[in-house]
Formats: sequence, C-alpha cells, structure tokens
Amino acid sequence: MRLFNENHKKFRQRVREFVETEINPYAEEMEKNRQIPRTLWKKMGEAGFLGLCYGKEYGGQELNIVYSVILTEELIKSRCSRGIGQAVVTHNDMATTYLHQFGTHEQKIKYLKPCTTGDAICAIAVTEPDAGSDVASMNTTAIKDGNHYIINGQKIYITNGYYADIIITAAKTDTKIQPAYKGISIFIIEKGIKGLSTSKLDKMGLPASDTAEISYTDCRVPAENMIGVEGSGFRYIMECFQKERLMLTLFSLASCEKIIQETIDFCRNHSLYSAPIISSQANKHKFVEMISELEVIKTLTYDCVQEYLAGNDIIKGITIAKFRAGELVNKAARICMGLQGEHGYLRDNVAARACLDARANTIAGGSTEIMKEILGKLLGF
Ligand SMILES: Cc1cc2nc3c(=O)[nH]c(=O)nc-3n(C[C@H](O)[C@H](O)[C@H](O)COP(=O)(O)OP(=O)(O)OC[C@H]3O[C@@H](n4cnc5c(N)ncnc54)[C@H](O)[C@@H]3O)c2cc1C
Repeated sequence: MRLFNENHKKFRQRVREFVETEINPYAEEMEKNRQIPRTLWKKMGEAGFLGLCYGKEYGGQELNIVYSVILTEELIKSRCSRGIGQAVVTHNDMATTYLHQFGTHEQKIKYLKPCTTGDAICAIAVTEPDAGSDVASMNTTAIKDGNHYIINGQKIYITNGYYADIIITAAKTDTKIQPAYKGISIFIIEKGIKGLSTSKLDKMGLPASDTAEISYTDCRVPAENMIGVEGSGFRYIMECFQKERLMLTLFSLASCEKIIQETIDFCRNHSLYSAPIISSQANKHKFVEMISELEVIKTLTYDCVQEYLAGNDIIKGITIAKFRAGELVNKAARICMGLQGEHGYLRDNVAARACLDARANTIAGGSTEIMKEILGKLLGF
C-alpha cells in the first residue's frame, strides 16, 4: 500500500518485535485476569508507543497518524487480540486526544505527559445509562462553585474506566440552554477524588480490556481542570469522533484479516473428500467475497487516513467505512467459524473468539444504525 514508506515499515517491524516478546507470551494471562498489567503500559510508554503523535515536551514522538494506524493494526493482530487494542487505542486515540487537541500547556505537562510515558492510564467518559447514541441528552452535571465545579452523575461502558488514573469526563455546565448540546463541557478527573467510584462490567468479549460504570457524587473538581472552552464539549466530542472512528475501522479490518488468514491456513491444510477444504468452488467463493469486500473498505479507509493527514474532512468516507467494516468482521467471523467445522467451535479458535468480540465493533464509537443515520443526513435524505 502506498500509504507506507520505508520508515513506516521499520516501525511496523519494531512493533511486531515488541508484540512477539512483550505481549504474545502474556496474552492468555491478560485475558484471564481481565487486566493489562501496569508494567506493560510502562513498557509501551518506554517504547514510545503511547502518544505517538504528541509533542516531545509532553513525552510524545511527534510522528503522524500513519504510525498510529500501524500500531493499531499490529496490536489487533497480536495474540491478545481480545482487549489490548481496545485499551491502547482508547488511551492513545480517543481519550488523550482531548488533552492534546484542546488542553493548555499546563494541563498537558500535568496530565498528558504521564499518559505518554505509561505512568497513567486514560479513559474518556461520555456514555450514560440513559444517553448513549444521543450524547446531547446526557444528565451528568458540573455546577460552578467558586473555583471549583461540583460533578454529579453516572457514566457507563467506559473503556479503561476501572484502572484509569485520568478520566476525561463530559458533563453539563448548563442544563437549561437550548439546544441542549451547547451546555456540555469536558473535565479532567483524577482517580482518587472524593465522591468518585468505579465498578467493573462483565462483557461478553474483549476480556483483557476493562469496562466500567462510573459514579460521581459531589466530586469537587478545580475549575482549571476544564478542557477548552465552557459549552464547547459537544463540538470537541464530534471532532474527536473522526479519529476515533478511523481507528475503530482499522480495528475491524485488522481482526477481519486475521480471521480470514487463519481460516485460509486451516482450509488449505485440512481435507474433505480427499481434497483441501479450500479447493471446493463454494468455499473459494466465500473467501473471494470476504477478501474483495475487505479490500474495498481498506482502500477507502487508507484514503481517509491520507485525507486526515492533509487536514481534510473525512466524515463521509469514515462513516461508510466504519459501519461496513464493523458488519464485515461479524459476517467473516461467522463464515470462518463455519468453514472450520468443529475446529471453529473450539473456544481458542480465532473466528470463535471474534464471534464474541466483534459485536463491539458495531456499537462502540457510534453504532451501525447511527452511522447510517449520519450518512442519510449527508446524502440529504
Ligand atoms: C466495547 C465498547 C467500548 C466502549 N467504550 C466507551 C468509552 O470508552 N467511553 C464512552 O463514553 N462510551 C463507550 N462505549 C459506549 C458506546 O459509545 C455506546 O454503547 C454507543 O454509543 C451506543 O449507546 P448505547 O449502548 O447506550 O445504545 P443506545 O444509544 O441506547 O441505542 C440502543 C440501540 O438503538 C439503536 N439506535 C439508536 N439510535 C437509532 C436510530 N436513530 N435509528 C435506529 N436505531 C438506533 C442503536 O444502534 C442500538 O442498537 C463503548 C461501547 C462498547 C461496546
């Protein structure tokens, strides 16, 4: 692919070596313990993998998004596909993005730097029990009290939320303003603050990535912990969604590639009626259909990466790519599981695992239905 030059290829090799030595041998343990050890976050920080695109003064590498693309692809293809990608991509490309794009120099030194060195884990808390797709209807409030804001409310389904040290939190600083989205602001909340409690949720898939419910009861947050301008939170969330959706699309595509490749290997090496499973016309067509769909979405996604690099709007392309990739990985998981017979039904099988994990790709970062709603609007329907 023309997206990648020699430096990118060397970086990919470096990530692969890291995955081979620091992630793969511990994948099972991480999934069983439902946690990514702090020592691994620290090693990723030391390797420069956290905050790839951020300034050197904040511990970053001053690289561009292509490096994040590579990191995401390789983490998803690691043996710990069930969670490490979700946790790191949330930290790198969804949560710390708010500090990087809208934070002050002081906020970046205090909060972004420990995230790039791997000393702190970051989460982004937007979703609430009664406000998921409809972000503007959130109920969490942040009421000004002198030099502080008092935060009350509840967040749910928050990736990294249980182990995070820093929770970027969206709350309403104005509950009366219309339209309601104009009342949303973003705050940096440190774990350990009085009134904050978190509990782990038990997901069907992605076990190595922790997901939490967070409750805020009269949490007093210094006013200087607001990110950017009061009332601009909704705009920030929408802006950050572009990169978030780009990464989630790559997430779906990389898992899809892994599932298809491992199933091809199986179908080449196993025979049915004296011929490899892959040689039957029906099975060949299944692979051809999955691979051609994958290639089309991947080309669109890499185009979006290039447009993003050039500073252009990618909303239409990435909206299409996100929902098509999310649906494809679910379809591929089911087909590939079937192609392997009972072998595909074993708990450790990559397609079987993906059947549990990939459902998240059609929900997180905006569901398939919401992508269709956005696209419908863009098409003037
Ligand atoms: C693995 C994972 C990680 C996540 N991590 C985070 C995180 O770190 N931070 C965070 O804030 N949130 C996170 N989320 C939450 C995620 O953003 C929400 O789940 C998502 O926005 C949908 O909200 P909801 O689950 O409340 O569903 P709802 O919004 O209640 O929707 C319910 C159903 O209705 C459908 N629907 C909604 N609107 C329409 C419509 N107009 N037309 C047709 N159908 C519609 C939806 O697609 C969905 O199927 C995560 C979710 C997952 C699965």
